[in-house]
Amino acid sequence: MNSKIERLIKQFARLPRLGARAGQRIVLSLLQDKTGRAESLANALMDAAATIRPCPCCGVLTDIDSGACEFCRDASRANGQLCIVRDLSDVWVLEKTAIFHGRYHILGGLLSGAAGTMPDDLNIANLSERVKNENITEVIFALPNTVEGKTTQHYVMSVIGTVPNVRFSELASGVPLGGDLDYLDDGTLSLAFGARREI
Ligand SMILES: [Zn+2]
Repeated sequence: MNSKIERLIKQFARLPRLGARAGQRIVLSLLQDKTGRAESLANALMDAAATIRPCPCCGVLTDIDSGACEFCRDASRANGQLCIVRDLSDVWVLEKTAIFHGRYHILGGLLSGAAGTMPDDLNIANLSERVKNENITEVIFALPNTVEGKTTQHYVMSVIGTVPNVRFSELASGVPLGGDLDYLDDGTLSLAFGARREI
């Protein structure tokens, strides 16, 4: 096989949930396309890679030119609620349900001895400050219902500590054990969010 094509296939094959066969199909389809899709993809990728960074406040990926992300800039979201999630895909899932209209905080992972994820690996350095400065009254944990999720939740609660007038809540038991948020249908997630319980 041509070495340039081989290199491309390897790049695609490494992407999440793809593999060698999917990589081959994608590369073939791109290289045989006559409408310039390969160039558009390459340009969009270069542009995003050069300009998209985590929001310094909450961790949502955003355009570096805008400073803070769309959620942190939106004053109508300063309603005292802060939802803590593992990653950006959880924000997208929650936004689809439209049940939440506060601010987010992305941890960027979960504590895990097995995976070697330690507290320093999580995006928590500014979390207590956020809770105080943004007048947060409810911290909502929307983390996976796993041992790692619960361990992380307890750790984050200890980091935030006791701030007057702040209560903590977690999603109701509609989230199945071991379940990631993005495996839930919108209805189940909305129910679990609406029926969240104080902890
Ligand atoms: Zn933000």
